[in-house]
Order: sequence, then C-alpha cells, then structure tokens
Amino acid sequence: MKLIMLGAPGAGKGTQAKMIAKKYQIPHISTGDIFRANIKSQTELGMKAKSFMDQGMLVPDEITIGMLMDRIKEPDCAGGYVLDGFPRTIPQAESLTKALSDMGTAVDYAVNVDVPDDNIIGRMSGRRACLNCGATYHVAFNPPKTENVCNICGQNLVLREDDKPETVKKRLDVYHQQTQPLIDYYKKAGVLVEVDGTQNMEDVFKSIVKVLGAE
Ligand code: ADP
Ligand code: ADP
Ligand code: ZN
Repeated sequence: MKLIMLGAPGAGKGTQAKMIAKKYQIPHISTGDIFRANIKSQTELGMKAKSFMDQGMLVPDEITIGMLMDRIKEPDCAGGYVLDGFPRTIPQAESLTKALSDMGTAVDYAVNVDVPDDNIIGRMSGRRACLNCGATYHVAFNPPKTENVCNICGQNLVLREDDKPETVKKRLDVYHQQTQPLIDYYKKAGVLVEVDGTQNMEDVFKSIVKVLGAE
C-alpha cells in the first residue's frame, strides 16, 4: 500500500503516519525527519536545507525530489510506504506520479488531515519533538510519561525552532500557497481521502482505517 499524508503543518500527519506504519507494517517516510537527521549529522544536504527550514520556507524541489526518489527505491519500500511531508508542491507530486508510473504503479490513497488554521498555532506551540528518534508529543494532548523526556529513547525533548509562532505563520502561508493545491490534484486522480483532523488522535486514526481497511 502506497500512501501520502496531506495537511497543514501541525495537522497531525506525522502522528497518524506513525500509527499507519505500525498497523500496516510499512515504512514511515518523513522528509522533515530526513532533513533534520542530515542537519544533525552536518551533511551537505543538511546544510543546504537548514536555512530554508529555519525561515519556514520549503527546501527547493531540486534537492527534495532526488532525496525522496532515492529513499523509495530502497528495498524496505518494496511493499509500500506512507509518505509524510512529501509531496508539498505540484512539481513534487508530478515527479512522484511519473516515477511510480514508470515502475508500473501508483499511489493508492492520499489522506488529507483537515485542521483549520486557528487550531494549528496551539498544536505547534505544544509540540515537543525528540530529535534523536523522531517521536513527537504534545504537552497537553499527548504528554510523555516523564516531563520532557522521550518515552522511546530517553532523550530530552525540544520545541523545534520552526514551531515558534512567527515561523508557524509563515509555514501556514507557504502551505496555503504551495501545498493546498495538492488536495485537488489527488481528488482528480481519484485517490483522495478526507478526514476531520480536529477529532482526538484515536478517532482520526479510526476514520482513516475505515477507508484503508483492516488488512
Ligand atoms: P511538519 O511535520 O510540521 O509539517 P516537517 O517536519 O514535515 O514539518 O517539515 C519541516 C520543514 O522541512 C518544512 O517546513 C520544510 O522547510 C522542510 N520540508 C519537509 N518536507 C519538504 C518537502 N517535501 N519539500 C520541501 N521542503 C520540505
Ligand atoms: P504534522 O506532522 O502534521 O506536522 P504532528 O503529527 O507532529 O503534525 O502533530 C502536531 C502536534 O499536534 C503534535 O504535538 C501532536 O502530538 C499533536 N496532535 C497530533 N494529532 C492530534 C490530535 N488529533 N489532537 C490533538 N493534538 C494532536
Ligand atoms: Zn526519542
């Protein structure tokens, strides 16, 4: 099964993608996580991506598309995957469609997690991230067992630099301009699934599973 998660920054794509990956036994591929891992280990790719990310802008397509294409060709992707944070522009979506069609396949579902802008700032300011293993929490809606410590790997959690309100506003603008058109793109392709992302995490997941099936 090949899935795409669509939605504004903070809509809950990552949270749902991790639950989907676990249930359907497919890799969770987050372009944001890949960029952050590269920044942490100071690779050339990481250096290129960092300034865009810090400003709440998208990393250019030339960098992002190649990176994602390399990832989905890895052996663990043979049985499908859930993409979280890619595509984010029409050219990215077109490249993915083309690459998959060259392999004789296509995306099965594009799940749009719909959350109004008004809810987003609160979600982002409460988000706490583990930069070691990629886990995410929320101080009110999904707190870790021990305050500020990752349940999975024990590292300290951080408020991402780009989750501060000024940058979140910029990211929402970028979302509306560059990413929202993908909803129509995947509707036309006949694979769009709309879910109400304002429900609690378990109910959002149930709505998704209803469409994807129990497997
Ligand atoms: P969120 O989960 O809050 O939506 P991500 O972790 O997906 O944030 O992305 C963080 C940042 O990484 C983005 O603001 C952008 O700068 C960069 N990024 C991630 N995915 C892409 C992409 N597909 N195209 C361009 N930039 C991306
Ligand atoms: P995205 O990947 O779309 O940027 P995340 O999955 O990281 O979003 O979620 C953003 C923040 O909101 C996180 O702190 C997460 O714990 C929290 N969150 C996710 N889903 C929900 C939900 N349904 N209700 C309340 N908070 C949520
Ligand atoms: Zn961790």
